[in-house]
Amino acid sequence: MSAETIDGKRLAERTRGEIAAGVAALAAERGVVPGLAVILAGDNPASVSYVTAKERACREAGMRSRVIRLPADVGVEALLAEIRGLNADPDVHGILVQLPLPGGMPEAPVIDAISPEKDVDGFTPVNVGRMLIGEDCFLPCTPHGILKLIEEAGVDVAGRHVVVIGRSNIVGKPVAALLSRKGRHANATVTLCHTGTPDVSVFTRMADVVVVAAGRPGTLTGDMLKPGAVVIDVGVNRVPDATSPRGYRLCGDADFDSCAAVASAITPVPGGVGPMTITMLLWNTLEAARRAAGARS
Ligand code: NAP
Repeated sequence: MSAETIDGKRLAERTRGEIAAGVAALAAERGVVPGLAVILAGDNPASVSYVTAKERACREAGMRSRVIRLPADVGVEALLAEIRGLNADPDVHGILVQLPLPGGMPEAPVIDAISPEKDVDGFTPVNVGRMLIGEDCFLPCTPHGILKLIEEAGVDVAGRHVVVIGRSNIVGKPVAALLSRKGRHANATVTLCHTGTPDVSVFTRMADVVVVAAGRPGTLTGDMLKPGAVVIDVGVNRVPDATSPRGYRLCGDADFDSCAAVASAITPVPGGVGPMTITMLLWNTLEAARRAAGARS
């Protein structure tokens, strides 16, 4: 079997077109232009490039974006003061703090300080709690994008077995929670694997869908899959590559070739989950602006 590639770039472009139309409509009807504020502390190259991509995506969708650049040695108090200012600013509808924070600065108090109404990353305890109990909330962007990709692949996960590899708060745990909800595009039987799972392949071989978010290349190989399974590869890893001008190339957590030989569909890296993550950030920012303007979605 040779798997179909689930094209996250194409889905992202289409969804961003819909978001841009929503932005234009909100501006025309309510005079409100959605605004995203991104706090970037330090100059970690990966963080700088993610923030640049978010700024560009906002601009292309017709939104305003503001990047607050702070030195790596900014203290927690100064960071909290910035967030409080943004919480009170009516032109800012979404707030995002680019993670990881430098110098081992604690993330929890910083995330907690973001107003849940502006928490477009969906990371605050209030939004995580609302998501878990099925209340209206901002869904975290990567898991939300993964749901959209599974839908795009034409896979109805209801009654199917999904295995999630990885239990981080930003990917693995919320994906498992969302796919096991009662409702549309969910209702799956979900197994959550992690480094405490003695043999992940015992579970992946029974899976109709595997979501791998381990942060390690080669975590999932074709021999671990049931024929016809769908693979969503969340990993973004830099591996040395002397043939690339950058000296490295990006790869996911799944060994693409061996998985594609067994799976029915698979997301590539790059071009799969990544573009959808930023897209769902725009989605949440538009939604936050609509709510602030009293407009319906
Ligand atoms: P993380 O916080 O490092 O968590 C990794 C999880 O995977 C942990 O729960 C870990 O288990 C588990 N794990 C690691 N190796 C494993 C193995 N061999 N078998 C089973 N479980 C294993 O990572 P994350 O933030 O979720 O990110 C995961 C990957 O996705 C990274 O490559 C990251 O760059 C990428 N990512 C991409 C996007 C995107 O938009 N494309 C967004 C977010 C993250 P323990 O809990 O037991 O340690």
